[in-house]
Amino acid sequence: MHKRCILAVDDELENLQMLQDILKDEYVILKAANGKEALTILSNNADGISAVILDIEMPVMDGYEVLSTMRKTKKLSVIPVIVSSRGECDKAEIRSLSLGAQDFVVKPYKADILRHRLGNLIKLRETAAIFNKTERDEVTGLYNKQFFMQKLSELLNNGESEQYDLICIGVEQFKLINDTYGVCGGDKVLHHIGRILQAACSRYNICGRFEADKFYGILPHSEIYTNEMFLPWKKKVNCFPIDMDIKVHCGIYYIHNKTVPIEAMCDRALLAADKNRGKYDELFYIYDDSIRKKLLEEQFITSNMQTAIDQNQFQVYYQPKYDLETEKVIGAEALVRWIHPEKGIIFPADFIPIFEKNGFITKLDEYVWETACKDLRTWMDAGIPVVAISVNVSRADLYNPKMIGNLLQIINKYGIPLSYIHLEITESAYTENPKQIVSVVRKLRDLGFLIEMDDFGSGYSSLNMLADMPVDVLKLDMGFIRSETQVLSSKGILGFVISLAKWLNLSVVAEGVETKEQIVALRSMQCNYAQGYYYAKPMNYESFSKVLKTLLIRERKNLVEIHANPKMEIQPDPVSVKEKVILIVDDIEINRVILTSSFAGKYQVEKKENGQEAWEYLENNYDKVVGILLDLFMPIMDGYQLLEKIRSDWRTKNIPVIITSSGDTNCELKALEMGADDFISKPYMPYIIQQRMENVLARYELKQLKQKNAH
Ligand code: C2E
Ligand code: CA
Ligand code: CA
Repeated sequence: MHKRCILAVDDELENLQMLQDILKDEYVILKAANGKEALTILSNNADGISAVILDIEMPVMDGYEVLSTMRKTKKLSVIPVIVSSRGECDKAEIRSLSLGAQDFVVKPYKADILRHRLGNLIKLRETAAIFNKTERDEVTGLYNKQFFMQKLSELLNNGESEQYDLICIGVEQFKLINDTYGVCGGDKVLHHIGRILQAACSRYNICGRFEADKFYGILPHSEIYTNEMFLPWKKKVNCFPIDMDIKVHCGIYYIHNKTVPIEAMCDRALLAADKNRGKYDELFYIYDDSIRKKLLEEQFITSNMQTAIDQNQFQVYYQPKYDLETEKVIGAEALVRWIHPEKGIIFPADFIPIFEKNGFITKLDEYVWETACKDLRTWMDAGIPVVAISVNVSRADLYNPKMIGNLLQIINKYGIPLSYIHLEITESAYTENPKQIVSVVRKLRDLGFLIEMDDFGSGYSSLNMLADMPVDVLKLDMGFIRSETQVLSSKGILGFVISLAKWLNLSVVAEGVETKEQIVALRSMQCNYAQGYYYAKPMNYESFSKVLKTLLIRERKNLVEIHANPKMEIQPDPVSVKEKVILIVDDIEINRVILTSSFAGKYQVEKKENGQEAWEYLENNYDKVVGILLDLFMPIMDGYQLLEKIRSDWRTKNIPVIITSSGDTNCELKALEMGADDFISKPYMPYIIQQRMENVLARYELKQLKQKNAH
């Protein structure tokens, strides 16, 4: 087997010998007696060396200097370094970690721990390398997200007092450009914009493109920005030779506080850019307090969402759908409302977009599906005639590999015929990632679900793809075409879409129908169904029960027997970004306090005094906990016992655990064998704790990413 190569740097021969003894079975060891020799070896073998174990105090050139030089050299900066020093020395540890070392070990070496750490670091780096092969975005030649953030971080850490501004640019209606001119044409536009941005950001030469049409760049700080400053290059953007105005929106974020996480800075610049969207007389927007307010509102939503589910604050309303010919109720859409004890009723527009961003939507949607099934069961048991209920399926649900299993399980739990639940999937989901989405939707349809394409007409490209889509019903929002002058004429868009649908054998539901005239026109165009305030507003369970009672009892046909697929594994829900919890388990308060301080602002921290309490918390919150800091010696249930429970329960077995005890090597080894991921010993240094936790978390994320990709 090919052995990886490690460079060991130490001025004391016996240390090098010790490393050789510990590592020789697994690695080839190159040796250097001082920093200078090390750099020579490194620069000749950059690609061949998997990691460096670096002594700090050495003659000729010390470890710090090696670290700084490595960091400045692109090829060397990606090689993981473990710094070693004699005895506990926090200053040295902090300084070397801040210079880019990944980890720190104390001499004399503890063989197993060194092997474990080294192995982990190499694995982490190599997996990361697979995912980040390139630092440049192929289309524009700008940095990709990861490298942009790295470059910005280096710039901010260079110790200079200079101020910078972060600019974010988005392209208006980029999907439309892509659709009209093809991906190739779209790419050319992106390339063109990239070059203009690069010229504008030439001072530091740090520009990147993240998602499809989002660009970022660094400008020297300016107190004042004016339209005149943006006009020339916005004109340049428009110089691209296509038959369409290319408009961009711009946001600026002043980097006044360099300790704000880079990702948050980019988010803020993006928020500012979004504020500038569609505003053609204002050429830019600077991140300010109104955005902050919006963020605070978002924060309110995010920090209250779980409680809201737990306390049943979400209610499902039903809005009936009518047959235009008979004017009978033939179905209903389930629409969620948040009834907050202080704020009153909150409408979906205020929270759904946030939940879609933070992932909570999958939880909420399942809650809504379950409530709809439960309500259907209650009506059926009471002998009340029921109609099919359409539930909304967000695109995040479709990316959730457990979605189909969970949905079937819910439906099965209440014994609801599959044909009683229809699925509404927004058109833009189909256009965003057709292949993946379409295959999931096709599966759902093959299972027997009726699929309704929601908000038809809001996207761009579905018209030509419609024939190949797994769809049964088009939902057409009157709101989207209200401005059309010919709305109500059969020659207008509406008439066209309805005839297209007929031709494709699809039925059409017009929604947002508010007037008698619309009803008459829709009927004349042979539209099948309508939903809207004209007939009924969304209503709560009691009111909708009354509507159902007025229906004649219909024969229940099409009963479909369904069984949950026993092979489908049930796993915890995906975690939303903003509710990542670090669980700290320690019986000594001061330890808990110090450990907590390392994560302030970045994670939510839960503290427990013993294994028992921690386990109780984990049982209820396993899906939120992203990492556990665990003391080994505690009363009631000690760290080993808890660790054993964590690793043997499917809900918790994949949560990273870092041991915080200062036991002897045997304790550490025992815990590692039981599945702990790393160690931190006392006295605790927040920076080091953070670093270790980030390493461990990154490893898990990569693992998950790999698993996802493997599917
Ligand atoms: P949607 O799925 O297109 O739902 C139709 C929206 O139009 C509903 O707004 C409904 O109350 C409103 N509406 C119905 N009739 C009329 C009318 O005649 N005129 C006007 N102007 N509006 C009418 P709502 O309930 O506020 O929901 C807004 C959006 O939030 C929904 O749009 C849907 O995208 C999302 N949503 C609501 N509930 C859920 C849910 O449980 N899960 C998911 N993923 N999304 C949901
Ligand atoms: Ca809908
Ligand atoms: Ca809709």
